[in-house]
This record gives sequence, C-alpha cells and structure tokens, in this order.
Amino acid sequence: MTPPGISGSQFAAALKAFGAAVGTANVFVSDEDVLAYADHYSPDETKHLPSAAVAPANADEVQAIVTLAAEHKVPLWPISRGKNFGYGGAAPVQKGAVVLDLSRMKKIEIDVQNGTVLLEPGVGFFDLYDYLQERKIPLWLSVPGNSWGSVVGNALDRGVGYTSYGDHAARICGMEVVLGTGEIVRTGMGAMAGSPTWQLYRNGFGPGWDTMFCQSNFGIVTKMGLWLMPEPEAMLGFDFEFDKPDDLGWAIDTLMPLRKQGIIQQAPSMGNWLRSAAVMTTRDQWTKSPGPLDETVITAIRKRFNIGWWSVQVRTYGPLEIVEATVKHIKNAFNGRPVLDIKPARWVRGDAAEGSPMSGVPVSFPLANANWFGGRGGHIGYSPVLPPSGDLAMAQFKRTYDLYQRFGMDYHASFAMGERSLTNVNQILFNRNNPEMMQRVDKFFHALVEDATTKRYGEYRTHIDYMDLVASVYDFNNGAQRRLNERVKDALDPAGIIAPGKSGIWPKAYRGDRA
Ligand code: ADP
Repeated sequence: MTPPGISGSQFAAALKAFGAAVGTANVFVSDEDVLAYADHYSPDETKHLPSAAVAPANADEVQAIVTLAAEHKVPLWPISRGKNFGYGGAAPVQKGAVVLDLSRMKKIEIDVQNGTVLLEPGVGFFDLYDYLQERKIPLWLSVPGNSWGSVVGNALDRGVGYTSYGDHAARICGMEVVLGTGEIVRTGMGAMAGSPTWQLYRNGFGPGWDTMFCQSNFGIVTKMGLWLMPEPEAMLGFDFEFDKPDDLGWAIDTLMPLRKQGIIQQAPSMGNWLRSAAVMTTRDQWTKSPGPLDETVITAIRKRFNIGWWSVQVRTYGPLEIVEATVKHIKNAFNGRPVLDIKPARWVRGDAAEGSPMSGVPVSFPLANANWFGGRGGHIGYSPVLPPSGDLAMAQFKRTYDLYQRFGMDYHASFAMGERSLTNVNQILFNRNNPEMMQRVDKFFHALVEDATTKRYGEYRTHIDYMDLVASVYDFNNGAQRRLNERVKDALDPAGIIAPGKSGIWPKAYRGDRA
C-alpha cells in the first residue's frame, strides 16, 4: 500500500529519506508492523490502515520528517501513544497515510513547587504516575478510564478524567508545536525564549493558540505544559445509586446547581448498570437470548454489583475541614429525595492509596467492556453535548434508549456534568466476529447522530470514521467554521500533510476526499 496519490517508487524514495533522518530501524513497513497501527476496536480495521509508520526521537527529527513529508507529498498522522480506543486508536482517517509515532519521545520535566509538568508526547499516564511515585512528589494526575494512552494525546483529544482536574484540555499551559512548514513555535509565554512562566501563565501576549491545536490538524505537538493537582489532604464523597430510569432527571437537577456554584469541582458522571456489568462480566453469563436485555436480567446484574439503574460518583478534594463541610452540603441536597443508596467514600492523607481513577491512579481494566458480546470485541463512542437540564437529559435518554432497542444493542450510557453542560457519553459495544451485528453498527451510529442533530446537539469528539459526518452538523452559515478551519489549515500546512481529514478538516490537496 502507498499513501493516496503516491506511486510505489515515490513512496520508496520518501521512506528512504525518512530512514536517513531517524534511522531505518525507526521506519516500519512490514505488514505485521503496519497492522499494529490499525484500529483494532473498530468495525473494519482495514478501512483506515496506514501504509507505514515512522518514529522520531525528538522535535528536531519531527521537524526533519515534516519537511521531507511536505517535499514528497506524504500525509502524516501524528499519534502520541495511539491508544485512542473508541475513536480510532492509532489509525489515520486517510487509508495509506503514514503514522508519525511519537511514543519514543518520553521526557518529563517537572516543577514540583508550582505543580506543573512539561511533557513529551510519548509519556503515558502510567509513566507519569510512576515518575511521581518513585520520587514521592505530592502531585496527583487526572487519568481517563482507560489509562494506556499518553497524557499529551489525551489532552489534545479533549479527554476527561474523574478529579477536579478532569477537563484535561483546560489544564494545558503552553505548547511546543511543529507546523506543516517545518517551523517550530512555542505558545503562550513560551513565545519568549527562556521564559520562566511558560507553564505558569496560559495567555501569553496577544491571541492564545493552545486550544487551536486540540482536535485539530494544525500542528504536531512535541511538548505540552500541564497543571497537576497538589495532593489534597482529603478526598471525600459518595456513590449515589438510583433505582429507576426516571431518577436521571431530578438527580441531574440536584447536582447541577452544586456543580455551577463550584461546590462540586469534578464532573460527576451518571451511568447505567451496564457500565459495571460490561467491565466485570460478559453478556453470555447473563443471558443466551440475543434480543434486548429484559428486566429480570437487568435486576440480576444490579443485584450482583449492588448498584442502581443509574450510579454516580461524587468526590471533593481539599483540606479535611473544608471537604467535610462540602460533602455534608451535597448530602443535604438529596434530603427527602428517593435515593436508593448513598455509599460514603473517604480517603485522608496517611491512609493507604485509594487506588482508583478518582484519586488519579491509572487503570486499564475498564477496556474489558469491549468483551461484552464475546468474540473479537470492539466499541465506538457517541457523545453529544446537551444543556444541563434534567428534563432534556431524560428526553435524550429515552430517545437514545429506543434507538439502542431498535438496533438490538445494549444501552451503555452516562451523562457527565460539566460546569454548564452535560456530555452524554454512549458506548456502542459489539462483537466484530458477528457480521450481522456489524451491519447494524454503522446504521445505528448514523441514526444517533441524526437524532441529536434534530435537537441541535453536536458531538464533542468522534471516531475517525465519522469525523466528516460530525463536522457536517456544525452548519451555522452554511459551514462557516469549516471554511475558517480550512483557511487556517491551508495557511499553516500548505502541502496539506498533517492529518488530512482530522475533525473533518481537509487541506486543499485532499479536499475532494471529504466523505
Ligand atoms: P493516546 O496517546 O492518549 O492514546 P493518541 O496518540 O491516540 O492518544 O492521540 C489522540 C488523538 O490526538 C489522535 O487522533 C491524534 O491524531 C492526535 N494527536 C496525538 N498526539 C498528537 C500530537 N503530538 N500532535 C498532534 N496531534 C496529536
């Protein structure tokens, strides 16, 4: 396979040039190597197969590869660790693009006093966690539910975690970026050479560019500054369990005012019973019937895990006397409400590590949910953003639930409470060995997006297969934002070689490839 529009001999010349820049041992072309960069969780892993991968060791080598790629017209797909499962993993939008694998770049620079890090893209959550633990540095991470990936890649894709630092993109402070022209820029205060405030003050002077490199293809991030949470004296909270599907609405209306006031500083995520069941068990342990799961099965699952129809974990972080008062206030908000169960959670400095993502400990076991249907499992995410209202959440839940039933899929959803919004994260779990089921997945996804679009809800993030679809619903003034994105793209990356098609942004050279 070769990149789009490139002949075998042109590609061979490009690969030879890449090898001269980074060492031939860091250019991967064998079928086995290339397959390692496929999206192993998607319905069809051949659809987005890259033609090769190249792994530079530092920003200078990234710069060299970008310059060569522009010269040879070879599109690159940058990844940090490529574990963006549910959204495409390491695979490019464009079949045949070359993966630019940054996982060898693993430098960590830490400012313990100010609680910041400057990271290269290859640093995984486990790497950074180990680094802090080994040095007994009292700073906490915020990790996503599956923490195999990199800190940088996750923040760039606007990943989320569970602590009060869980909006990862919001904690970015300063970047180093290689543009499509090969030029290296530093953003924020980093624009001043040798600035001691690069990781401390986000704005810099003039326009701020950090968010421009999130979910975009405007540059390749070779360093990212991030703020970390000072280890709190205490983490207190509750797991709230709710008995009925209809409890979703009032529970959100109870929690949202606390969220808006900043009393709850993390984003509580209210999810249904399948969240636990799919991670801990497989479907055939509960039923042999292929149709929608009936109430007896749902009841059995809930009983086994001692959970509600919905569950939400709320945690507060800080000095003990403050969080004790805070959790009392939160509990009072539920006085007189029909909560099924309130399970207190308490960790105070000096206790054994709490060990979960709630305290920033990386884990990977939640990925086991891909096994739910058996066979070669997979999943993709569907995540529209709603206003923070219980009624709208209920309506969204009912419409989506009906669609899950109609397409014969098992409902797996959560509503994450942002400061002024709800993100309705839905997992579509499937068995890739079941061709009949795989036929349904694509139609189901289109139906979900169509449904959200009628309400004018857009998705916050999406799988590489659906980037054009999701971008197309952002339609104000006949897609003015897309035109703006593509004007910027053409200006910063005139050869159009960085991640063509990412987030529906196509450079001039490949604009005809839009789905
Ligand atoms: P993770 O390492 O957390 O698994 P990925 O490497 O899968 O994350 O990247 C997530 C998304 O962000 C991908 O779509 C990728 O295109 C983009 N991305 C990752 N790293 C970079 C980077 N250093 N510069 C630009 N885009 C990146």
